[in-house]
Amino acid sequence: MPSCYDKESEKPKDKKMSRLNIWKEEWDEAEKGWEERAKVAKEKYPLKGLKVLPQMTGITVETARHLKWKSFKWMVMHDDEREILKGFLHYPFKYFKAFLKSAAQTKPYQRNGDFFLYGVNSLEEFEGELGDPNSFLVLGFSYCHKPFECPSGRFSSECCHDLNHPVCQQCFIGKATHFLNPHQSVVLYIPTIHYIGGKIFEYVHRYPDKKILFIITACELTLEMFGDWGNMVNIQGIGVRLDGRICNTMEAFALSEKGIKPGLTVVLDETKKKLMDLIRLRNRMCAERA
Ligand code: SF4
Repeated sequence: MPSCYDKESEKPKDKKMSRLNIWKEEWDEAEKGWEERAKVAKEKYPLKGLKVLPQMTGITVETARHLKWKSFKWMVMHDDEREILKGFLHYPFKYFKAFLKSAAQTKPYQRNGDFFLYGVNSLEEFEGELGDPNSFLVLGFSYCHKPFECPSGRFSSECCHDLNHPVCQQCFIGKATHFLNPHQSVVLYIPTIHYIGGKIFEYVHRYPDKKILFIITACELTLEMFGDWGNMVNIQGIGVRLDGRICNTMEAFALSEKGIKPGLTVVLDETKKKLMDLIRLRNRMCAERA
């Protein structure tokens, strides 16, 4: 399988590529074009996927025990680059109080199917927030649903989303990246919980007057474990539940955080559609403001 291409020279290029302007095109046409390209690529280079969707419980009973404590311990003890500590020390009293308030609740989120809602009471409320001209959107994808053949590597914060590459042409992450209007938004590819935690602190502190919104894909275990940390910095958003070969024990989670993830996770088709609807809505609202 080739590595990322440079569009003009067709020479392999091992760096992040800029997004193409699909988001400027008419949505239905662009989506149709994307699906047709994906079909052709699949015939030529079929990707290794899940043959059957495994029926796995989201979090095992043993793992669910004292989960808040386990997540706190993980966050503190594996903060090797001190990203979380440094971010926390910006406003230690404010963050400590908000963390305790969130941790005192049984659940740090409200659930709507595969969508876990943080800081908002309904999907409709979040859709309204997407239109806030003062908002900044973080769209994040966990590395575990990158294809095995990903030219940027799976356990990596890189994604070349190369429109000419047969793997990227079939990849939902690539599709979402190209379709999102980059205005007041960023797309992240998430190798570890500390990586995304550090990035969220970075945006919260860089844009103190903006409302930080997020849409992030993750396993149910991660969505449960780290919701209090998101609430601590008062961001609003949606955790999109992954299916497939998810991590549902602390052992699997710990290995995955080191890049050991032999299984593939997936966003279910119906959920992909809902996620694309949110991107479309965001684009429409950005266009109306332009
Ligand atoms: S678009 Fe998908 S396959 Fe291509 S580099 Fe990004 S994650 Fe990997």
